[in-house]
Amino acid sequence: MITKIWQRLTNKKSAKHPSTPLVVTRDKHNISRNKISKSALKVLYRLNDAGFEAFLVGGGVRDILLGLSPKDFDIATSATPEEVCKLFKNSRLIGRRFKLAHVLFGREVIEVATFRGDHTSSSSKHAVTSKQGMLVRDNVYGNLEQDAFRRDFTVNALYYSAKDFTLLDHTGGLEDLKAKQMRLIGDPITRYQEDPVRILRAIRLSCKLNLLIEPKTAAPIAELSEMLEHISAARLWDESNKLLLSGYAEKTWHQLCQYDVARHLFAQTCQSLNQNNAEEFNAFIQAALVSTDKRIDQKQPVTPAFLFAVFLWQPLQDLTTALISKGTVPYEASQKAAARVLDIQRKSIAIPKRFSIVIKEIWSLQFRLMNRKKRNIDSLIQHPKFRAAYDFLCLRALDNDELKELAKWWTDFQNGIPEERNKLIKSVYQPHTGRSRKKRKPRKKTQFKE
Ligand code: ATP
Ligand code: MG
Repeated sequence: MITKIWQRLTNKKSAKHPSTPLVVTRDKHNISRNKISKSALKVLYRLNDAGFEAFLVGGGVRDILLGLSPKDFDIATSATPEEVCKLFKNSRLIGRRFKLAHVLFGREVIEVATFRGDHTSSSSKHAVTSKQGMLVRDNVYGNLEQDAFRRDFTVNALYYSAKDFTLLDHTGGLEDLKAKQMRLIGDPITRYQEDPVRILRAIRLSCKLNLLIEPKTAAPIAELSEMLEHISAARLWDESNKLLLSGYAEKTWHQLCQYDVARHLFAQTCQSLNQNNAEEFNAFIQAALVSTDKRIDQKQPVTPAFLFAVFLWQPLQDLTTALISKGTVPYEASQKAAARVLDIQRKSIAIPKRFSIVIKEIWSLQFRLMNRKKRNIDSLIQHPKFRAAYDFLCLRALDNDELKELAKWWTDFQNGIPEERNKLIKSVYQPHTGRSRKKRKPRKKTQFKE
Protein backbone atom coordinates (compact mmCIF):
# COMPACT_ATOMS: atom_id res chain seq x y z
CA MET A 1 0.00 0.00 0.00
CA ILE A 2 2.73 2.46 1.03
CA THR A 3 4.73 1.54 -2.05
CA LYS A 4 1.69 2.21 -4.23
CA ILE A 5 1.12 5.62 -2.66
CA TRP A 6 4.78 6.37 -3.08
CA GLN A 7 4.87 5.31 -6.73
CA ARG A 8 1.97 7.65 -7.45
CA LEU A 9 3.82 10.45 -5.75
CA THR A 10 7.26 10.13 -7.23
CA ASN A 11 6.68 13.15 -9.44
CA LYS A 12 6.02 15.28 -6.33
CA LYS A 13 8.61 17.32 -4.45
CA SER A 14 10.57 15.73 -1.63
CA ALA A 15 9.22 16.36 1.88
CA LYS A 16 12.65 16.72 3.42
CA HIS A 17 12.78 20.49 3.26
CA PRO A 18 10.73 21.95 6.10
CA SER A 19 9.05 24.66 4.05
CA THR A 20 7.80 22.35 1.35
CA PRO A 21 5.59 19.68 2.82
CA LEU A 22 4.51 16.84 0.65
CA VAL A 23 0.74 17.20 0.11
CA VAL A 24 -0.99 13.96 -0.80
CA THR A 25 -4.53 14.42 -2.08
CA ARG A 26 -7.48 12.15 -1.23
CA ASP A 27 -7.28 10.09 -4.42
CA LYS A 28 -3.64 9.20 -3.72
CA HIS A 29 -3.74 7.75 -0.19
CA ASN A 30 -5.69 5.01 1.57
CA ILE A 31 -7.00 6.94 4.57
CA SER A 32 -10.77 6.94 4.40
CA ARG A 33 -13.11 8.24 7.06
CA ASN A 34 -14.61 4.82 7.75
CA LYS A 35 -11.24 3.74 9.20
CA ILE A 36 -11.27 6.64 11.67
CA SER A 37 -13.29 6.49 14.88
CA LYS A 38 -16.52 8.52 14.78
CA SER A 39 -15.49 10.28 17.97
CA ALA A 40 -12.19 11.43 16.46
CA LEU A 41 -14.04 12.72 13.39
CA LYS A 42 -16.50 14.59 15.63
CA VAL A 43 -13.63 16.34 17.39
CA LEU A 44 -11.94 17.22 14.09
CA TYR A 45 -15.17 18.65 12.61
CA ARG A 46 -16.07 20.68 15.67
CA LEU A 47 -12.58 22.19 15.93
CA ASN A 48 -12.64 23.05 12.21
CA ASP A 49 -16.14 24.55 12.49
CA ALA A 50 -14.96 26.73 15.37
CA GLY A 51 -12.24 28.12 13.08
CA PHE A 52 -9.27 26.12 14.40
CA GLU A 53 -6.87 23.99 12.39
CA ALA A 54 -7.16 20.33 13.36
CA PHE A 55 -5.51 17.17 12.04
CA LEU A 56 -5.39 13.52 12.82
CA VAL A 57 -1.76 12.67 13.57
CA GLY A 58 0.49 10.03 15.12
CA GLY A 59 -0.40 6.36 15.46
CA GLY A 60 -3.87 6.83 13.97
CA VAL A 61 -2.54 7.96 10.59
CA ARG A 62 0.57 5.75 10.65
CA ASP A 63 -1.33 2.55 11.44
CA ILE A 64 -4.02 3.10 8.77
CA LEU A 65 -1.30 3.68 6.18
CA LEU A 66 0.27 0.39 7.28
CA GLY A 67 -3.06 -1.39 6.92
CA LEU A 68 -3.48 -1.82 10.72
CA SER A 69 -6.28 -0.78 13.06
CA PRO A 70 -5.14 2.11 15.23
CA LYS A 71 -5.19 1.57 18.99
CA ASP A 72 -6.22 5.19 19.59
CA PHE A 73 -6.58 8.47 17.75
CA ASP A 74 -4.55 11.59 18.43
CA ILE A 75 -5.40 15.05 17.18
CA ALA A 76 -3.18 18.11 16.75
CA THR A 77 -4.81 21.52 16.67
CA SER A 78 -4.18 25.25 16.71
CA ALA A 79 -6.61 25.58 19.65
CA THR A 80 -5.06 25.83 23.11
CA PRO A 81 -5.97 23.10 25.64
CA GLU A 82 -8.26 25.60 27.39
CA GLU A 83 -10.01 26.44 24.08
CA VAL A 84 -10.49 22.72 23.43
CA CYS A 85 -12.03 22.29 26.86
CA LYS A 86 -14.43 25.17 26.21
CA LEU A 87 -15.60 23.50 23.01
CA PHE A 88 -16.11 20.05 24.57
CA LYS A 89 -18.02 19.59 27.79
CA ASN A 90 -16.85 15.96 27.83
CA SER A 91 -13.18 16.94 28.14
CA ARG A 92 -10.52 17.48 30.77
CA LEU A 93 -7.06 19.01 30.89
CA ILE A 94 -4.21 16.66 31.68
CA GLY A 95 -0.41 16.74 32.05
CA ARG A 96 2.00 19.29 33.38
CA ARG A 97 5.15 18.47 31.45
CA PHE A 98 3.04 18.31 28.33
CA LYS A 99 -0.37 19.91 28.78
CA LEU A 100 -3.17 18.59 26.57
CA ALA A 101 -6.90 17.91 26.49
CA HIS A 102 -8.65 14.57 26.65
CA VAL A 103 -12.09 14.43 25.04
CA LEU A 104 -14.05 11.51 26.45
CA PHE A 105 -16.66 9.45 24.59
CA GLY A 106 -17.65 6.67 26.96
CA ARG A 107 -14.47 4.61 27.34
CA GLU A 108 -12.85 6.10 24.26
CA VAL A 109 -10.39 8.92 24.84
CA ILE A 110 -9.38 11.28 22.04
CA GLU A 111 -6.13 13.02 22.88
CA VAL A 112 -6.06 16.59 21.59
CA ALA A 113 -2.68 18.35 21.66
CA THR A 114 -1.99 21.95 20.75
CA PHE A 115 0.66 22.47 18.04
CA ARG A 116 4.03 22.60 19.78
CA GLY A 117 6.56 25.29 18.77
CA ASP A 118 10.34 25.44 18.85
CA HIS A 119 11.29 25.28 22.54
CA THR A 120 14.90 26.28 21.84
CA SER A 121 13.88 29.73 20.59
CA SER A 122 11.74 30.41 23.63
CA SER A 123 13.18 31.76 26.84
CA SER A 124 9.84 31.60 28.59
CA LYS A 125 8.77 29.38 31.47
CA HIS A 126 6.75 27.30 29.00
CA ALA A 127 9.78 25.16 28.13
CA VAL A 128 12.07 23.97 30.89
CA THR A 129 15.20 21.91 30.24
CA SER A 130 17.17 19.97 32.87
CA LYS A 131 20.96 19.85 33.21
CA GLN A 132 21.06 16.66 31.11
CA GLY A 133 19.20 18.38 28.26
CA MET A 134 15.91 16.78 29.22
CA LEU A 135 12.76 18.73 28.44
CA VAL A 136 11.09 18.89 31.82
CA ARG A 137 8.23 20.96 30.45
CA ASP A 138 7.26 21.48 26.83
CA ASN A 139 4.32 23.84 26.55
CA VAL A 140 5.56 26.24 23.90
CA TYR A 141 2.81 26.49 21.31
CA GLY A 142 3.46 26.93 17.60
CA ASN A 143 2.16 26.14 14.15
CA LEU A 144 1.63 22.93 12.20
CA GLU A 145 5.08 22.88 10.63
CA GLN A 146 6.85 23.44 13.96
CA ASP A 147 4.64 20.79 15.51
CA ALA A 148 5.74 18.27 12.89
CA PHE A 149 9.41 18.81 13.79
CA ARG A 150 8.70 18.50 17.53
CA ARG A 151 7.32 14.95 17.08
CA ASP A 152 9.54 11.94 17.65
CA PHE A 153 9.69 9.78 14.51
CA THR A 154 8.99 10.78 10.93
CA VAL A 155 6.34 8.06 10.61
CA ASN A 156 4.52 9.66 13.56
CA ALA A 157 4.47 13.12 11.98
CA LEU A 158 1.95 12.59 9.18
CA TYR A 159 -1.15 14.82 9.34
CA TYR A 160 -4.57 14.01 7.92
CA SER A 161 -7.09 16.78 7.40
CA ALA A 162 -10.80 16.00 7.74
CA LYS A 163 -11.49 19.27 5.94
CA ASP A 164 -9.99 18.50 2.53
CA PHE A 165 -8.86 14.89 3.18
CA THR A 166 -5.23 15.61 2.30
CA LEU A 167 -2.23 14.07 3.97
CA LEU A 168 0.65 16.38 4.93
CA ASP A 169 4.22 15.14 5.30
CA HIS A 170 6.82 17.63 6.54
CA THR A 171 9.55 15.23 7.62
CA GLY A 172 9.75 12.39 5.09
CA GLY A 173 7.52 10.01 7.02
CA LEU A 174 5.95 8.47 3.91
CA GLU A 175 9.37 7.73 2.48
CA ASP A 176 10.38 6.05 5.75
CA LEU A 177 7.15 4.05 5.92
CA LYS A 178 7.87 2.82 2.42
CA ALA A 179 11.41 1.86 3.49
CA LYS A 180 9.89 0.22 6.60
CA GLN A 181 12.04 2.20 8.98
CA MET A 182 11.74 4.42 12.04
CA ARG A 183 13.81 7.56 11.95
CA LEU A 184 14.02 10.20 14.66
CA ILE A 185 13.34 13.69 13.41
CA GLY A 186 16.46 15.85 13.84
CA ASP A 187 19.67 14.94 15.63
CA PRO A 188 19.10 11.59 17.40
CA ILE A 189 21.34 12.35 20.39
CA THR A 190 19.62 15.67 21.12
CA ARG A 191 16.18 14.14 20.66
CA TYR A 192 16.92 11.26 23.06
CA GLN A 193 18.45 13.67 25.55
CA GLU A 194 15.32 15.84 25.42
CA ASP A 195 13.21 12.82 26.22
CA PRO A 196 14.89 9.43 26.88
CA VAL A 197 11.48 7.71 26.73
CA ARG A 198 11.87 8.04 22.96
CA ILE A 199 14.35 5.15 23.31
CA LEU A 200 11.56 2.95 24.63
CA ARG A 201 9.17 4.24 21.98
CA ALA A 202 11.67 3.41 19.23
CA ILE A 203 11.99 -0.17 20.48
CA ARG A 204 8.28 -0.64 21.20
CA LEU A 205 6.99 0.77 17.94
CA SER A 206 9.60 -0.95 15.79
CA CYS A 207 8.59 -4.31 17.32
CA LYS A 208 4.88 -3.62 17.02
CA LEU A 209 5.03 -2.32 13.46
CA ASN A 210 7.80 -4.53 12.16
CA LEU A 211 9.89 -1.52 11.24
CA LEU A 212 13.65 -1.32 11.41
CA ILE A 213 15.22 1.35 13.61
CA GLU A 214 17.24 3.30 11.06
CA PRO A 215 21.03 3.05 11.88
CA LYS A 216 21.58 6.69 12.95
CA THR A 217 18.50 6.47 15.17
CA ALA A 218 19.66 3.16 16.65
CA ALA A 219 23.32 4.12 17.18
CA PRO A 220 23.06 6.20 20.40
CA ILE A 221 20.47 4.01 22.14
CA ALA A 222 22.77 1.78 24.22
CA GLU A 223 24.90 4.66 25.44
CA LEU A 224 22.06 7.06 26.23
CA SER A 225 19.69 4.52 27.78
CA GLU A 226 21.23 5.31 31.17
CA MET A 227 19.22 8.53 31.02
CA LEU A 228 16.08 6.48 31.57
CA GLU A 229 17.11 6.46 35.21
CA HIS A 230 16.15 10.14 35.36
CA ILE A 231 12.60 9.48 34.17
CA SER A 232 9.87 9.45 36.78
CA ALA A 233 9.00 5.98 38.04
CA ALA A 234 5.31 6.71 37.41
CA ARG A 235 5.92 7.41 33.72
CA LEU A 236 8.03 4.28 33.43
CA TRP A 237 5.21 2.24 34.93
CA ASP A 238 2.97 3.42 32.05
CA GLU A 239 5.67 2.82 29.48
CA SER A 240 6.58 -0.63 30.79
CA ASN A 241 2.94 -1.62 30.53
CA LYS A 242 2.92 -0.55 26.90
CA LEU A 243 6.16 -2.44 26.30
CA LEU A 244 4.94 -5.66 27.87
CA LEU A 245 1.20 -5.71 27.33
CA SER A 246 0.76 -4.72 23.70
CA GLY A 247 1.01 -8.22 22.28
CA TYR A 248 4.71 -8.06 21.31
CA ALA A 249 6.34 -8.60 24.69
CA GLU A 250 8.70 -11.39 23.65
CA LYS A 251 10.16 -9.48 20.73
CA THR A 252 10.26 -6.25 22.71
CA TRP A 253 12.07 -7.79 25.71
CA HIS A 254 14.61 -9.33 23.37
CA GLN A 255 15.25 -5.92 21.78
CA LEU A 256 15.43 -4.20 25.19
CA CYS A 257 18.19 -6.67 26.09
CA GLN A 258 19.93 -6.39 22.72
CA TYR A 259 20.12 -2.60 23.03
CA ASP A 260 21.27 -2.93 26.66
CA VAL A 261 18.25 -0.93 27.82
CA ALA A 262 16.55 -3.58 29.98
CA ARG A 263 18.93 -3.17 32.93
CA HIS A 264 17.81 0.44 33.42
CA LEU A 265 14.23 -0.71 33.90
CA PHE A 266 14.70 -4.15 35.48
CA ALA A 267 18.08 -3.96 37.21
CA GLN A 268 17.53 -6.90 39.56
CA THR A 269 16.18 -9.11 36.76
CA CYS A 270 19.20 -8.46 34.57
CA GLN A 271 21.55 -9.01 37.49
CA SER A 272 19.98 -12.42 38.18
CA LEU A 273 20.12 -13.25 34.48
CA ASN A 274 23.86 -12.72 34.65
CA GLN A 275 24.28 -14.97 37.66
CA ASN A 276 23.22 -18.43 38.78
CA ASN A 277 20.28 -20.34 37.30
CA ALA A 278 20.38 -17.96 34.38
CA GLU A 279 19.23 -20.53 31.84
CA GLU A 280 16.24 -21.66 33.83
CA PHE A 281 15.25 -18.09 34.73
CA ASN A 282 15.72 -16.96 31.16
CA ALA A 283 13.51 -19.80 29.92
CA PHE A 284 10.90 -18.89 32.53
CA ILE A 285 10.83 -15.24 31.42
CA GLN A 286 10.71 -16.28 27.79
CA ALA A 287 7.78 -18.65 28.40
CA ALA A 288 5.88 -15.98 30.35
CA LEU A 289 6.33 -13.42 27.58
CA VAL A 290 5.21 -15.88 24.88
CA SER A 291 2.19 -16.83 26.97
CA THR A 292 1.30 -13.15 27.57
CA ASP A 293 1.46 -12.39 23.84
CA LYS A 294 -0.71 -15.42 23.13
CA ARG A 295 -3.31 -14.40 25.72
CA ILE A 296 -3.50 -10.90 24.24
CA ASP A 297 -3.87 -12.36 20.77
CA GLN A 298 -6.72 -14.56 22.04
CA LYS A 299 -8.28 -11.57 23.83
CA GLN A 300 -7.82 -13.21 27.25
CA PRO A 301 -7.24 -10.94 30.26
CA VAL A 302 -3.66 -10.13 31.29
CA THR A 303 -2.27 -8.33 34.32
CA PRO A 304 1.09 -6.59 34.58
CA ALA A 305 1.36 -8.12 38.08
CA PHE A 306 1.96 -11.56 36.55
CA LEU A 307 4.91 -10.44 34.42
CA PHE A 308 6.42 -8.40 37.23
CA ALA A 309 6.11 -11.47 39.48
CA VAL A 310 8.00 -13.42 36.80
CA PHE A 311 10.71 -10.78 36.30
CA LEU A 312 11.36 -10.55 40.03
CA TRP A 313 11.08 -14.25 40.86
CA GLN A 314 14.78 -15.10 40.65
CA PRO A 315 15.88 -11.92 42.48
CA LEU A 316 13.41 -12.97 45.20
CA GLN A 317 14.95 -16.46 45.36
CA ASP A 318 18.50 -15.07 45.43
CA LEU A 319 17.74 -12.65 48.25
CA THR A 320 15.77 -15.21 50.27
CA THR A 321 18.71 -17.63 50.05
CA ALA A 322 21.12 -14.90 51.13
CA LEU A 323 18.97 -14.00 54.14
CA ILE A 324 18.60 -17.64 55.19
CA SER A 325 22.35 -18.12 54.98
CA LYS A 326 22.72 -15.20 57.38
CA GLY A 327 20.45 -16.94 59.87
CA THR A 328 16.96 -15.62 59.11
CA VAL A 329 14.29 -18.32 59.34
CA PRO A 330 12.92 -19.30 55.91
CA TYR A 331 9.41 -17.85 56.23
CA GLU A 332 10.66 -14.53 57.54
CA ALA A 333 13.41 -14.49 54.92
CA SER A 334 10.96 -14.86 52.04
CA GLN A 335 8.70 -12.14 53.46
CA LYS A 336 11.59 -9.74 53.94
CA ALA A 337 13.01 -10.54 50.52
CA ALA A 338 9.66 -9.93 48.80
CA ALA A 339 9.33 -6.52 50.42
CA ARG A 340 12.91 -5.56 49.59
CA VAL A 341 12.84 -6.75 45.98
CA LEU A 342 9.64 -4.80 45.35
CA ASP A 343 11.03 -1.70 47.06
CA ILE A 344 14.08 -1.74 44.81
CA GLN A 345 11.96 -2.26 41.66
CA ARG A 346 9.63 0.58 42.63
CA LYS A 347 12.56 3.03 42.56
CA SER A 348 12.67 2.72 38.77
CA ILE A 349 9.13 1.57 37.96
CA ALA A 350 6.35 2.68 40.29
CA ILE A 351 4.28 -0.48 40.62
CA PRO A 352 0.95 0.62 42.13
CA LYS A 353 0.04 -1.01 45.42
CA ARG A 354 -2.90 -2.93 44.01
CA PHE A 355 -0.49 -4.75 41.69
CA SER A 356 2.28 -5.32 44.21
CA ILE A 357 -0.29 -7.02 46.45
CA VAL A 358 -1.08 -9.43 43.60
CA ILE A 359 2.62 -10.02 42.93
CA LYS A 360 3.15 -11.02 46.57
CA GLU A 361 0.09 -13.26 46.47
CA ILE A 362 1.32 -15.11 43.37
CA TRP A 363 4.67 -15.62 45.11
CA SER A 364 3.28 -16.85 48.41
CA LEU A 365 0.87 -19.20 46.64
CA GLN A 366 3.87 -20.93 45.05
CA PHE A 367 4.69 -22.33 48.48
CA ARG A 368 1.10 -23.21 49.26
CA LEU A 369 0.83 -25.12 45.97
CA MET A 370 3.45 -27.52 47.32
CA ASN A 371 1.17 -28.53 50.17
CA ARG A 372 -1.35 -30.97 48.73
CA LYS A 373 -3.25 -31.85 51.86
CA LYS A 374 -6.99 -31.74 51.49
CA ARG A 375 -7.58 -28.83 53.86
CA ASN A 376 -5.05 -26.66 52.08
CA ILE A 377 -6.41 -27.62 48.66
CA ASP A 378 -9.96 -26.62 49.60
CA SER A 379 -9.00 -23.08 50.52
CA LEU A 380 -6.33 -22.74 47.84
CA ILE A 381 -8.55 -23.59 44.93
CA GLN A 382 -10.99 -20.90 45.99
CA HIS A 383 -8.31 -18.26 46.31
CA PRO A 384 -8.95 -15.41 43.83
CA LYS A 385 -5.35 -15.65 42.61
CA PHE A 386 -5.23 -19.46 42.43
CA ARG A 387 -5.44 -19.51 38.63
CA ALA A 388 -2.64 -16.95 38.22
CA ALA A 389 -0.48 -18.86 40.73
CA TYR A 390 -1.16 -22.16 38.93
CA ASP A 391 -0.25 -20.61 35.54
CA PHE A 392 2.91 -19.23 37.17
CA LEU A 393 3.79 -22.71 38.48
CA CYS A 394 3.23 -24.28 35.04
CA LEU A 395 5.66 -21.82 33.47
CA ARG A 396 8.25 -22.44 36.19
CA ALA A 397 7.87 -26.15 35.55
CA LEU A 398 8.67 -25.96 31.84
CA ASP A 399 12.39 -26.08 32.49
CA ASN A 400 12.38 -27.82 35.86
CA ASP A 401 11.76 -31.57 36.13
CA GLU A 402 10.95 -31.53 39.85
CA LEU A 403 8.20 -28.99 39.35
CA LYS A 404 6.79 -30.82 36.33
CA GLU A 405 5.25 -33.47 38.56
CA LEU A 406 3.68 -30.85 40.85
CA ALA A 407 2.28 -28.81 37.94
CA LYS A 408 0.86 -31.97 36.31
CA TRP A 409 -0.74 -32.97 39.60
CA TRP A 410 -2.54 -29.62 39.82
CA THR A 411 -3.61 -29.83 36.18
CA ASP A 412 -5.03 -33.34 36.71
CA PHE A 413 -6.66 -32.25 39.94
CA GLN A 414 -8.53 -29.37 38.29
CA ASN A 415 -9.59 -31.57 35.40
CA GLY A 416 -10.63 -34.50 37.57
CA ILE A 417 -14.05 -35.55 38.79
CA PRO A 418 -14.37 -35.82 42.63
CA GLU A 419 -13.30 -39.52 42.73
CA GLU A 420 -10.19 -38.78 40.70
CA ARG A 421 -9.40 -35.83 42.92
CA ASN A 422 -9.58 -38.01 46.00
CA LYS A 423 -7.24 -40.50 44.39
CA LEU A 424 -4.81 -37.70 43.56
CA ILE A 425 -4.84 -36.48 47.15
CA LYS A 426 -4.18 -40.01 48.39
CA SER A 427 -1.39 -40.44 45.87
CA VAL A 428 0.69 -37.73 47.57
CA TYR A 429 -0.52 -38.14 51.15
CA GLN A 430 2.07 -40.22 53.03
CA PRO A 431 0.58 -41.50 56.31
CA HIS A 432 3.05 -41.38 59.19
CA THR A 433 4.24 -44.91 60.07
CA GLY A 434 6.52 -44.17 63.02
CA ARG A 435 6.23 -46.64 65.94
CA SER A 436 5.80 -43.97 68.59
CA ARG A 437 2.48 -42.81 67.12
CA LYS A 438 -0.77 -44.33 68.26
CA LYS A 439 -2.89 -45.86 65.57
CA ARG A 440 -5.63 -43.38 64.65
CA LYS A 441 -9.25 -44.36 64.44
CA PRO A 442 -10.17 -44.69 60.76
CA ARG A 443 -11.92 -41.52 59.62
CA LYS A 444 -15.20 -41.39 57.77
CA LYS A 445 -14.59 -41.43 54.05
CA THR A 446 -14.90 -37.90 52.68
CA GLN A 447 -15.41 -37.12 49.08
CA PHE A 448 -13.86 -33.99 47.61
CA LYS A 449 -16.71 -31.70 46.74
CA GLU A 450 -16.73 -29.53 43.64
P1 ATP B 1 0.39 4.05 19.80
O1 ATP B 1 -0.70 4.95 20.30
O2 ATP B 1 0.01 3.14 18.72
O3 ATP B 1 1.14 3.39 20.91
P2 ATP B 1 1.50 6.57 19.01
O4 ATP B 1 2.65 6.93 18.14
O5 ATP B 1 0.17 7.07 18.58
O6 ATP B 1 1.50 5.00 19.14
P3 ATP B 1 1.05 8.07 21.39
O7 ATP B 1 1.67 7.92 22.74
O8 ATP B 1 -0.42 7.91 21.26
O9 ATP B 1 1.81 7.03 20.47
O10 ATP B 1 1.51 9.49 20.85
C1 ATP B 1 0.86 10.15 19.78
C2 ATP B 1 1.85 10.94 18.99
O11 ATP B 1 2.45 11.95 19.80
C3 ATP B 1 3.03 10.16 18.44
O12 ATP B 1 2.73 9.50 17.25
C4 ATP B 1 4.06 11.24 18.24
O13 ATP B 1 3.80 11.98 17.08
C5 ATP B 1 3.81 12.15 19.45
N1 ATP B 1 4.64 11.75 20.60
C6 ATP B 1 4.34 10.88 21.57
N2 ATP B 1 5.33 10.77 22.46
C7 ATP B 1 6.30 11.60 22.05
C8 ATP B 1 7.58 11.96 22.54
N3 ATP B 1 8.06 11.41 23.66
N4 ATP B 1 8.31 12.88 21.85
C9 ATP B 1 7.82 13.44 20.72
N5 ATP B 1 6.62 13.14 20.21
C10 ATP B 1 5.86 12.24 20.84
MG1 MG C 1 -1.64 7.00 19.73
